[in-house]
Amino acid sequence: MPASIVILLGAPGAGKGTQATRLASFRRSPHVSTGDLLRENRKQGTELGKQAQQHMDAGRLVPDELVLAMLFDRVARPDCVDGYILDGFPRTLAQAEALDKHIAGSSLQVFEVQVSDATIVERAAGRLTCKACGNTQHQRFSPPKVAGRCDKCGGELAQRPDDRAEVVRERLRVYHEQARPLVAYYARKGCLKPIDGERAPDVVFADLNCLLPSKERV
Ligand code: AMP
Repeated sequence: MPASIVILLGAPGAGKGTQATRLASFRRSPHVSTGDLLRENRKQGTELGKQAQQHMDAGRLVPDELVLAMLFDRVARPDCVDGYILDGFPRTLAQAEALDKHIAGSSLQVFEVQVSDATIVERAAGRLTCKACGNTQHQRFSPPKVAGRCDKCGGELAQRPDDRAEVVRERLRVYHEQARPLVAYYARKGCLKPIDGERAPDVVFADLNCLLPSKERV
């Protein structure tokens, strides 16, 4: 059977990270997030991490050649031989084209998790993050049992600076600019499937799983 590569496209806050994690565990397929790989490199102080740092801190994309070398190195490991789930990659057309060449012969499914900007701003505006353990709750959807305190560890809950509406709107603007050509590219190739991400996470997950060809479902 050819390796099965799944790409999840979606705005920051659309829930694609959550879906990628669930899909990876359900399909027993590695969840490969380029953002996580870059953060790991930074933490370990590698040469790549140092080179990526200035770009990440400025909110810019890390140059394609660095990201591609890092990604291809990761997916060359034995756990990726049957396929993997990509999150945060590709971000540019050059990355999409390089990936196509790299995975020639594999099956490729691309999902676009669609959530309106208004919903994303609303989700981010109400999100509360625990300063102690990183757990996230929501003022409306999962309100803390004790006001301002994390349900898991009792730590202090606060809004993350990058969850403020004006910052979220700027991240969305950048995302739409980057994503438009990618969405068009995969639509032309005939492997793009839109997913309505406004629904509950369980429903979105069931939908995603159904849309994968049956031989690839667990
Ligand atoms: P993320 O966690 O996916 O939001 O990524 C965090 C940061 O890592 C981004 O703002 C970029 O600076 C960088 N990054 C992650 N993935 C890529 C990619 N595929 N291409 C270029 N830069 C990336």
